[in-house]
Amino acid sequence: TRHIRRPKIFASLDEVTRSSGQPAGPVFDVSNPSTGELLATLPDMGIDDARTAIDAAALAQPLWAGKPAKDRSIILRRWHDLIVEHADDLAAILTAEMGKPVGEAKGEVLHAASYVEWYAEEAKRVYGETFPAPANDRRMLVIKQPVGVVGTITPWNFPASMVARKISPALAAGCTIVLKPAEQTPLVAGAMFVLAEKAGFPEGVLNLLYASEGAPIGRELCGNPKVRKISFTGSTEVGRLLMRQCSDQIKKVSLELGGNAPFIVFDDADIDEAVDGAVQAKFRNAGQTCVSANRIYVQSAVHDAFAEKFVTRVRELTVGDGFAPDVAIGPMIDAHAIDKIEAHVADAVAKGAQVRSGGSRIGTTGTFFEPTVLTGISHDMRIAQEETFGPIAPIIRFETAEQVVAEANDTIYGLAAYFYAENLKRVWHVAEALEYGMVGINTGRMSSEAAPFGGIKQSGIGREGSRHGLEDYLEMKYLCMGNI
Ligand code: ADP
Repeated sequence: TRHIRRPKIFASLDEVTRSSGQPAGPVFDVSNPSTGELLATLPDMGIDDARTAIDAAALAQPLWAGKPAKDRSIILRRWHDLIVEHADDLAAILTAEMGKPVGEAKGEVLHAASYVEWYAEEAKRVYGETFPAPANDRRMLVIKQPVGVVGTITPWNFPASMVARKISPALAAGCTIVLKPAEQTPLVAGAMFVLAEKAGFPEGVLNLLYASEGAPIGRELCGNPKVRKISFTGSTEVGRLLMRQCSDQIKKVSLELGGNAPFIVFDDADIDEAVDGAVQAKFRNAGQTCVSANRIYVQSAVHDAFAEKFVTRVRELTVGDGFAPDVAIGPMIDAHAIDKIEAHVADAVAKGAQVRSGGSRIGTTGTFFEPTVLTGISHDMRIAQEETFGPIAPIIRFETAEQVVAEANDTIYGLAAYFYAENLKRVWHVAEALEYGMVGINTGRMSSEAAPFGGIKQSGIGREGSRHGLEDYLEMKYLCMGNI
């Protein structure tokens, strides 16, 4: 119990698990990746529980959609206020189950709250459309209506903000929810649901499924005709599977999948700013984000200066338990993640890369890995091709803008890209040529509730955040009035 603070409102985690003592039936454990400490034992829910939750959501949906938008808005707003009020508690739960530094966890919780606030506001702005009819005896218009019951599956890397980003636009639109959070990080989702109940969402509007395994519940959510849409964030592999499972019923999908983000530094860039941005884009969340800089391209003339400054900054990053002071990088989520990182580093070194900093796991137990910088990277290395999802920064030298744009686009992914340049003409040309859903220009961080987050190519379908995020949970209906 070294660093575990029992949060105020969750004096024991029992309130989160909604049970006193051990639940009946199958269970699974949630533990702290920094210490291995057992945090909670939760009921391991299956297909029957999923059906019950879907039935409850289906029953509640017309009632929820039938409320005035202002009423939905007020409840969402109260949920936002409660999340902000309990931000420290939620951050402590998040760090305990996921490992990220508690300051970062609190940032995530407030980021989550900002989506809830945004969609509390947007709930009142579901506008339809009228347009001129080709004949005078008729009138034509479009109304927007909620999609219906939404099945959502979220990942462990942002266990609070992914929940908020998916469900708050859906709730604002008048949809009801069945959520299955990642098995590694279900507790902060549980805590957010407790707060949602306090905020006053009617019974059946939000339904939570704890499960040790995604597949059975995923199949039920995709196969049950009462569910009208699946909203998923996670790996491209699972996204493909869910889309396939949704095809029988032509079910709607929103998918936020993997990335392989290029981070490009041109010779006219402000190098100190670029180093700063690269540290953020690479090492935030220990590199375990779908928008993490996966390949750092630096133009020949500034390559050595950039690499030197970057290595100096990376050596200052402290690795450790997310509750310890001044820690910048927490543990990897599990041993499997460490294996992949080690394999990527070994493959790069075997093919001629130089380790400029780090390169190894820390200790033999736990899942800590040194922040690592590699230079001399070539395109045949796994690290240049696949998403690493860890604190490894491969630096790749390039000569021309044309060449780097071609290499940056040479991937199945199209989520986020970053570049640093000052020349206006270059900024426009490169921004337009990068085949990505999001491009950060002279910044290493761009996620915001005000902006549409999402990818193209095999990185996904749909957008989350901004007014566009609401549209993903609305159907349009064309009304044609004749004989006027
Ligand atoms: P990661 O590799 O980052 O854990 P996944 O795509 O495996 O990414 O997991 C993201 C979410 O998808 C988690 O909630 C997980 O439980 C769920 N999941 C994993 N496999 C399946 C599946 N076959 N069907 C539905 N959900 C799944």
